[in-house]
Amino acid sequence: MEELLERLLAECRVYTEQGRVADYIPELAKSDPDTLGVYVIASEGRHSWAGDCRQKFTLQSVVKPILLLQALLDNGMEAVQNRVGVEATGKPFDAINAGEQALDSGHINPMVNMGAIVMCTLIKGSSYEERFQRLLALTSQLAGEELCVDEAVYRSEKEHGSKNRALAYLLKSSGLLEGDVEEVLDCYFRACSIQVDCRSLAHIGAVLSNRGRLPLTNEPVFPIALTRYVNAILTTCGMYDGSGEFAIRVGVPAKSGVSGGIMAVVPTRMGIGIYSPALDHKGNSLAGIRLLERLSRELYLSIF
Ligand code: GLN
Repeated sequence: MEELLERLLAECRVYTEQGRVADYIPELAKSDPDTLGVYVIASEGRHSWAGDCRQKFTLQSVVKPILLLQALLDNGMEAVQNRVGVEATGKPFDAINAGEQALDSGHINPMVNMGAIVMCTLIKGSSYEERFQRLLALTSQLAGEELCVDEAVYRSEKEHGSKNRALAYLLKSSGLLEGDVEEVLDCYFRACSIQVDCRSLAHIGAVLSNRGRLPLTNEPVFPIALTRYVNAILTTCGMYDGSGEFAIRVGVPAKSGVSGGIMAVVPTRMGIGIYSPALDHKGNSLAGIRLLERLSRELYLSIF
């Protein structure tokens, strides 16, 4: 496995030159575009890796499936689905969706920013501090290590978050968001700024691939029905408006983030963590997708 990962990584390094690092969050613009790392954790617990896999970065949108999981654990599937739909938008992650029709919960899903912002309001807790700490604890448990917030990225997101503010106020004015908008957004920005590496992403993916149980020990973290819910949405919406193309090229549930991370789930087989911050025009890691595409072909990973 290591040899294969090393070879694919060497083949895909050239693609890092074709992407662009996100700069609408100024702190993310400091990332090194040449970075490429991969980490694989098989369901039985074996670890394999190559490249810059211990380089730290922030979860960004890869936190969305965890926000969804926490909301599902706290409220059940029906209540969550009543608040945010499950259909693909076919639009970018921060699309305003302004149109003739009034904004409706069925028009968004938990993998776009509007849906993820609503998820923050569904986490149980007497304050947003408590809600965030519960989310951080779940994220750490899934990642198999204690995680913390990258304060510089958090401040940068908060200071430059006008688009997310617009989205949150639109939700509020449409009756889809309850509570204080700034408090909800603060929770969302902190969630996006949780610091990880490829290993943490692979571990989260391994739990989702192992029916909600930790690799190695098989200790249950969440019920199998929730695994199905999350993996299904990752398949149709996890790579935003690039999800169809990704399903053809790679064919596994996955989630990307604008920091350049991708968390991929190969049901019953493995979790994969990738990092390469140079992005394609849809905001997905360009070399990361190429690497996953080759890995999928070599190991017959596609679920289709
Ligand atoms: N924090 C980012 C934002 O809200 C997350 C988006 C992403 O990773 N696609 O814009």
